[in-house]
Formats: sequence, C-alpha cells, structure tokens
Amino acid sequence: MRLKSNGRASSNGRASFVIKNGIMKKVCIIGAGVAGMACGIHLQKSGFQTVIYEGGSTPGGLCTGWSRGGYSFNGCMHWLLGAEKGSSFHTMWNEIVDLSQIEFVDHKERVQFEVKFHVEMHGRASDMTDKYGSNIFHFYNKTDDFEKYLLDIAPEDATLIKRWMSCVRGLNKFQEVLPPVIADDSSLWQKIKFWGVKMTVRMHQLGFHYLKYRFSGILQGTTHTFAERFKSPFLREAIKNLYEKEMPMNLLCFVQSYADLGVAKYPKGGSEAFAKLLADSYLKSGGTIKYNSKVEKIVVDDGAHKAKGIQLKNGDFCEADYVVSAADWHWTMFDALGEKYIPSDLMKYNKIENSDVYYSYCILYLGVKDGMKNHPHFLRFYTDPYLLPDGTPFDKMEVHIYNYDEKLAGDDRCTIAVYFQTQNGDYWIDKRENDRSGYDAVKKQFTALAIEKLVEHFGEDFRDKIEVSDLTTPASYHRYTNNYNGSSQGWMPMVGRRSFGKVRNVSNVFLCGHWTIPGGGLPIALKSGRDVARKIKNNTC
Ligand SMILES: Cc1cc2nc3c(=O)[nH]c(=O)nc-3n(C[C@H](O)[C@H](O)[C@H](O)COP(=O)(O)OP(=O)(O)OC[C@H]3O[C@@H](n4cnc5c(N)ncnc54)[C@H](O)[C@@H]3O)c2cc1C
Repeated sequence: MRLKSNGRASSNGRASFVIKNGIMKKVCIIGAGVAGMACGIHLQKSGFQTVIYEGGSTPGGLCTGWSRGGYSFNGCMHWLLGAEKGSSFHTMWNEIVDLSQIEFVDHKERVQFEVKFHVEMHGRASDMTDKYGSNIFHFYNKTDDFEKYLLDIAPEDATLIKRWMSCVRGLNKFQEVLPPVIADDSSLWQKIKFWGVKMTVRMHQLGFHYLKYRFSGILQGTTHTFAERFKSPFLREAIKNLYEKEMPMNLLCFVQSYADLGVAKYPKGGSEAFAKLLADSYLKSGGTIKYNSKVEKIVVDDGAHKAKGIQLKNGDFCEADYVVSAADWHWTMFDALGEKYIPSDLMKYNKIENSDVYYSYCILYLGVKDGMKNHPHFLRFYTDPYLLPDGTPFDKMEVHIYNYDEKLAGDDRCTIAVYFQTQNGDYWIDKRENDRSGYDAVKKQFTALAIEKLVEHFGEDFRDKIEVSDLTTPASYHRYTNNYNGSSQGWMPMVGRRSFGKVRNVSNVFLCGHWTIPGGGLPIALKSGRDVARKIKNNTC
C-alpha cells in the first residue's frame, strides 16, 4: 500500500500506518499458528503491513482439528486459559478475538482416575480404595469441592490439605493482574496508577504469598515429592497421578487456581473452530495469509546486521522490514538463520535431548455410534502393562470423551481421544521417513491393541460401535507443523531458560511462539506474539 506522507501517519485515531519512504512497513511472519496470528493482528492494528507465510494449508498450527467419516476431531486444547474474566489472559485474547462468540464448557471435575498401589521392584499394581471402598479419585475444579472431598477421604491429612487449598485460594487474587496487561492507549496517569501503585502492591503481595507457601512446603518440588507428605496411602498415590511426574507444585497450584476461578474452560467446537476465529480476525484486520508457502531461509545482510526478507522453498524472495518467526525454534535458529546468529549459550541445543522437549503424543481418535452420555468426560484406568511401538511403557489408558460438545457429539454419536504421551518423537519421525510400510504397520497393530484395552473397559459391544479410527503420532505433528520431535508445547518447563526468544546480531528478526518460554502452551503463544508486536512497534516509533 503506498501512502502520501513519510513517517508515522495517523488519521483521527482510526487508522495509523507505520510507513517508510511512502510505503507501509512490511513484516513477514513465518507460521499461522496462534502466536503468528496473534502477532499479526497486533501489528496490523498498529499500522504495519503483514503477511503470514504458512507451510500448511490451514490456520492454527498445533491448534487444529479435522473431520473424518462424518466425525469431527479436536486435535488440541481441552482448556483455554483466559476463557472468562478474572485472568489477564482474558484481556489479551479479547484484544485479538471476540471471546463472546464462543460457548465455553466448565467441568465440575477435571479428571477422574483409578488409584493403584505400585510395588516398584516387581512392577506389581494392586487396587487401593478410599474409606468408601472406591478406587476412583476425583480431581474437582472448584477448590471448595476438592477440599471437602479430600478432607472426607483423608482426615488424617487435614493440616496439609487445608494449607494446600489456602495457597490456591491465595493465588486467585493475582490472576487478574498476572501477567501484567495494560492497553497501549492507556493515559500516562493510568500507566502510573497501574504500574506504580496497583502492580507494585500486587507484586509485593504475590512475593509474600509465594515465600509463605514455599517455606511451608507447598510451592516446592513436584507433585511427586509433594505426594510423599500425605499420610493416607490412597492420597499419596492419587496426588502422584494428577499430572506427569515433572509437574512443579507451583504450576499445579496455578492450574488449580485457574480452575477454581472458572477462567480456563473448553471452547465448544474445539481447536479448529477457535483457530478459524483467529484467522478471520487477522484477515479482517487487513493481513494476508499465504498457505502452502514453506519458508526456507531468513535472508540476512551481514554488513547491516539486518534481515532483508525471507526466501520460500519455491525460490521466491519476499522483502521485509521485519521478520518474525512464529515457527519451531530449532528450525529458525539452525536452518533458517544459521549458527552466526545463535546466542552462544544456546549453541548446545543444536542437538536437543529428548528429555528437554515437551511430550508429544500418539492419540487414537475414535468416532463411535453411541452418545457415551453416562461416562465421565475425562478418565484414566489401569490395564495390563504395554508398550508404545517407540518403547514408552504404559499401564493405563487416558481417555477424553467429547460427550459435552454437541459439535463433536450427539445423542447417538461421539468422538473419543485416547492419549499416549511420549518423548520418543524421533522414533516416529524416522520410521515414517525411512520405513513407511513399517510405520503404517505399527500404527495398525497399536490401534488394534488400544481398541482391545478400551473394549475390556467399556464392554464387548464397544468394538461394534466404532465407525472411524485415526491414530496420530509425533510424526503427524512434525509433518504438519514442523515442531521438533513433534513436541506439543515446545520445551519442558524445567529447561527454564529465558533467552530462547533472542537472536544475536540481527536487529530486525524476532521470535515468538511456544518455544520462546519453556512450558509453552496457548497462553505463551498468545503473549509472546503480543510482546513481539510491541517490540517492533516500539522499535519503529
Ligand atoms: C494434543 C495437544 C493438546 C494441547 N492442549 C492444550 C491445552 O489444552 N491448552 C493449551 O494452552 N495448550 C495446549 N496445547 C499446546 C498448544 O497447542 C501449543 O502450545 C500452541 O498451539 C503453539 O502455538 P504456536 O503458534 O507457538 O506454534 P505452532 O502451533 O507450532 O505454529 C507454528 C506454525 O508455523 C508453521 N511453520 C513451521 N515451519 C514453517 C516454515 N518453514 N514455513 C512456513 N510455516 C512454517 C507451522 O505449520 C505452524 O502452523 C496442546 C497441544 C497438543 C498437540
């Protein structure tokens, strides 16, 4: 778009373009995942001309879904942090998409699962029960419900339970201001008020809260180490199984606080519908998405320490004033940019340890001729031990039943997703690339094995109700989104580095997305996209 004036033009607050030599400043964004689209919407609103180059044929990246045989599958989220007021992420989502268009579901229970006692040496598992003879543990979303339940089944742990829940309730007070959000157009006085008084007081209060519960042993270690402190053997085993064993207690308490406030909920229609809303919002803001446009290189002018633009796989060159990579971190650093621009402390990540990469998944998606109305929406149950073809051992099944979303289910039909977490994504990617028939064969065998285990649980007639089955693997995530080892959220949280968003010696290349802050997820994708847009805006104006 050619404009008449130089510099930054603004027309009575409605449109304001950032322009150079009469031409709007252009930003090439790599990747139409949530981060790329969030960044694009903010930049468009700030007057930049943006184009998103997306390797795939749909928006959303990992935040996706698909249809097969008349069933629609949710490929990603079970909860969106910021779905409701009470979390600063709500403000951030609403800046880029109208959340009132979405109907959210708030479950009473997050998950229910069987509890078994494991004898480590012999790998033996035997039933454990609570005082009512039930071996099912209920993880309630509301703190009051959860506390009441825990105190009832384990009164001997009353002190620890009450301290834990009081820590969660205390965190509720901070969700509205964490992370701090203030609108760009706030007046100076509002900013001073926000940062100078409210935030300062809040941050001190949070620091005090954190120290208090750290010293009293709640916000310390992982759920596994915390579990050992319970006297009740049933609770000890149950708490260990709330999440993966690396889950830090401070993260668990935050997750509980989100659930208690009802600010993290499931959006009806699932991830595909959500990604489409974001893409519509980006297009409405004037941006362009070029699908099936794989980027090969970020082209840098070494003398100027600046990127000139990007080169696509088909050889096309696209000039840019700024380049934002919202794609995989390893690809951006080592393939698209090259070693010269990697901060020296990050060079060692050329070969990333499998254990540093957030879990990927094999997920068995089923379309069944049954509304599955009498089943919990999320359950885990034990089975005989078995192995994923990549060698990951399992002794349970984790099942999501979409019986609460009429867009994915009905009275006599439902979609189900069975999750198998793995850090051996390289096995699947290699196998698909180098032994395609072997890859198809192990998928088929594993699908059959998993269905047998479901039949053992749901009954013999379950088998006949299955109309569609589709097993995704880490190779699917890798193929469709290029995430390293098929990671679902970037780095594992304990990798802990804050420098993943940085590029060395190139002033106009920025990174956003779930790889920029370990732990990843949609909130990080959203916030990092927003932050990069602000950096570019501040750099220019
Ligand atoms: C099964 C599953 C369940 C999940 N559940 C939740 C949940 O409940 N809540 C939550 O918060 N998070 C959840 N997540 C995590 C969340 O989906 C991701 O962290 C988030 O979507 C990452 O967004 P992103 O934009 O950073 O990256 P991505 O989604 O990976 O987007 C990157 C985009 O870049 C494109 N790209 C890559 N390379 C190139 C290239 N060379 N040229 C052009 N384009 C390229 C890709 O095709 C992709 O579209 C889940 C993830 C999975 C897999």
